[in-house]
Amino acid sequence: MATDPPAPSDGDLDDILEYCNNLRQAPVPADDALPEGFTGTIGHFPVYFPEEIAHSVGLLPVGLLGGGNKLELKHADAHMGSFVCSICRSTTEMGLNGALGNLSGFVTHPICDAAKHLAGIWARNFPEQLAQILYLPQNVNTPGAVRYVAAEYQRLRAEMEKKAGRSSDDESLRASIRAYNRNRRLLRELYAIRRDEPWKLSATESYLLLRARTRLPCEQHNLLLEQAIAGIRARRRPPLDKPRVVFVGGFCEQPPLEMLEAIDDNCYVVDDDLLVGLRWITADVPETGDPVWALAESFVERSDASPVQHDERKTKEGYLMDMIRRSRADAAIVTAAKFCEPGLDEQVAWSKHLDEVGVQYLVLEFEEKMSSFEQMAMQLETFAESLLFATA
Ligand code: SF4
Repeated sequence: MATDPPAPSDGDLDDILEYCNNLRQAPVPADDALPEGFTGTIGHFPVYFPEEIAHSVGLLPVGLLGGGNKLELKHADAHMGSFVCSICRSTTEMGLNGALGNLSGFVTHPICDAAKHLAGIWARNFPEQLAQILYLPQNVNTPGAVRYVAAEYQRLRAEMEKKAGRSSDDESLRASIRAYNRNRRLLRELYAIRRDEPWKLSATESYLLLRARTRLPCEQHNLLLEQAIAGIRARRRPPLDKPRVVFVGGFCEQPPLEMLEAIDDNCYVVDDDLLVGLRWITADVPETGDPVWALAESFVERSDASPVQHDERKTKEGYLMDMIRRSRADAAIVTAAKFCEPGLDEQVAWSKHLDEVGVQYLVLEFEEKMSSFEQMAMQLETFAESLLFATA
């Protein structure tokens, strides 16, 4: 029976970070090994998924983030073209090789053609699992957007209740919202540390702490974050002479850890869009009233930005510039996953705009199965030196 790695008991920051790193590679637990209160698991594909709804029906939300650079693809190539991005291929591989066999269900979103079609592959190959597309709106700027999202959430809630064999009343959904609101506050605090004292927490460490939520019940993740933040605040590390940069392009497929480490070696990453779906709602969701409406309204009105969500209030260039301004960054690292159409499209718009406004940037492409980082490390070193030279 697969079990998660043991959780650190004494709140030591290094132990917490090691635990998070091990969780990243841990298998999805079987139903009889789940934490108390959960009867099954829902795998959700990036970018955003309303975890509160699954949590309230007793299905543990498990973020599906591909297979990393150790997974060998043996079956997925027979199901999709060679031009499909890595995360879709490796997720399919993990379904076909049995690594995701413990999931009760799989939810994807129409963020791009490749991601949308995963639901069909899932339904056909794994009929015992619930396979759903959560149709989040293509355009949130219409008057009916909140009503539409609320109806879609209700539909998904009913499907998950059927799968879990258990209904969720509004009070249990409000309790889940409260737990996730606490999580949102802690994550905002984590990112504020990155912005104000980036020498205390690297982008890699922050990413590992954030990513742990894709495998832990929210309440457990809250405890982990509370302990980690106390440890980070107590760190005594002197600031180094490194440029402040923002990192964009990590909203869906995840860059390899080694790439983040190479960036950390040269720069302070003071903000990023890594796993932005886990931080999508930017303020507390109302804890009174209709909880489904509250989640839907928050999705539309109090949410972040990404290349897969059209919102005329957040232009491609505008939200990057906001990020740079808010975090007082000197420059941007503008990345995209290989074969990611939404990401590459955004990268072109960002680069053009940064040229126009005279903000320095470095363009990088990544793939989850990358294994050589020497050339990238050299590019980063040269970039960081040029920024420091320009401000000297
Ligand atoms: S990485 Fe890009 S192309 Fe691939 S599923 Fe995500 S949004 Fe779609």
